[in-house]
Amino acid sequence: MSPIRPLIAGNWKMHGLESALDEARLLAATVEARSPSARVAIFPPATLLSRLAHALEGLPIEIGGQDCRPEPSGAFTGDVSPEMLVDAGASLVILGHSERRAYHHESDVLVAAKVAGALRAGLEPVVCVGESLEERRAGLAVATVERQVRACLADVSGGQGVVVAYEPVWAIGSGLTPSVSEIEAVHGAIRGALQTVLGAAGGAVPILYGGSVKGANAAEILSAEHVDGALVGGASLKASDFIAIIQAA
Ligand code: PEP
Repeated sequence: MSPIRPLIAGNWKMHGLESALDEARLLAATVEARSPSARVAIFPPATLLSRLAHALEGLPIEIGGQDCRPEPSGAFTGDVSPEMLVDAGASLVILGHSERRAYHHESDVLVAAKVAGALRAGLEPVVCVGESLEERRAGLAVATVERQVRACLADVSGGQGVVVAYEPVWAIGSGLTPSVSEIEAVHGAIRGALQTVLGAAGGAVPILYGGSVKGANAAEILSAEHVDGALVGGASLKASDFIAIIQAA
């Protein structure tokens, strides 16, 4: 059992209108009633951030953004800054998600700059890494995530308030997951890379698993070695599905 408090994080992606606030209120009421051992966080679309922060005020759910630019402000039409996320009520931000890397061509260098911007603003970055199916088939899963961790956290000192999420690209939204021993092998390698980059502080960075986590597989995945929580997409949209995962932590 890891001494790190687990984090169960729900990435709503580009889902959610005003009516999603009711689902979040239901989730928050259940979390408050059951006081799970895990921290719980929701990452809504930017349009819902401040309304969600208002709706969940005083309740034990943290709120995060799904992306940000590195700069505090500027002529960047359509983007949001780390400081704007804080202003809207966020305390965390997902960075380097594979959908950002695929659809917006985000590199590790850009993700590292975003991590620095998030830390400057006081946000806790959840830095996503993970191999493609081709990389896994070529035996390059561990080498890929080690390279991503080293590059994305290159400018971090002391591991202050950083989270890493291992999300194999082929497992996201596919219903497929690696075996527990495959997850443990990659998480163990990430722990080693974190200690190389951050020294002893790398031992305290939570490492989440993400990719087709649901109620039925959560207990097995969350009890794996070096797994300190989960980043959940589809199964975070309905309070009853997400609660089943939170309860498994
Ligand atoms: C994700 O998008 O971060 C994710 C893990 O999605 P899903 O749980 O739907 O696979």
